[in-house]
Amino acid sequence: MENKKRGPVVLDPGHGQFGNPHTTKEGFYEGTQNFILASFLKKELEARGFEVLMTRNRVEDNPELAERGELAGKNGAALFLSIHSNAPSSSIGPEKYPLVRGVETYYSVSDIEGNAPIAKALNDAVVKTMNSTDRGIKTRRYPDNDSLDYYGVIRASAGSGCKRAFLVEHGFHTNPEDSAFLQSEECLARLAAAEAEVIDRFF
Ligand SMILES: [Zn+2]
Repeated sequence: MENKKRGPVVLDPGHGQFGNPHTTKEGFYEGTQNFILASFLKKELEARGFEVLMTRNRVEDNPELAERGELAGKNGAALFLSIHSNAPSSSIGPEKYPLVRGVETYYSVSDIEGNAPIAKALNDAVVKTMNSTDRGIKTRRYPDNDSLDYYGVIRASAGSGCKRAFLVEHGFHTNPEDSAFLQSEECLARLAAAEAEVIDRFF
């Protein structure tokens, strides 16, 4: 008898290939580093018996936000995980960008009680592995309908039936320490292993 796979898990490496340049070093882009991290995480999860789907199968893919989230619902995913790094809001001056760092994780308001412990465990694992600052776990609600999530990928995942929807901001690609970590494939591989451990525990 064939073993039944766990999951499925939908991984969403944010943006396209050249989305959001790292401001600390030329030639690195959030969209590319997100894709590399997601690819490592896919391998780690497959090794633990999970079926894994990616919203981008090639680094140059860049589907719409709704399409990314809906991939989770369409496939009956147990988990939707959107992978990003952060940049400060434009309300602070660019000269202060390097000072802002840390990890934060958003989770869907469609199941706060169920999602918060998973968000906390994911966030803790990323803070520890990146040796960065903890900016906490958060929800963000849609302005005109507070039963919906603000972030399009989380909203589309929950709306299509997968309420276990998370978006992890893996540090700031505008901060020297965080971005140096994200620019190293060896570091991204360690990060993927740490996140796979958490997913293995909860799913
Ligand atoms: Zn991003």
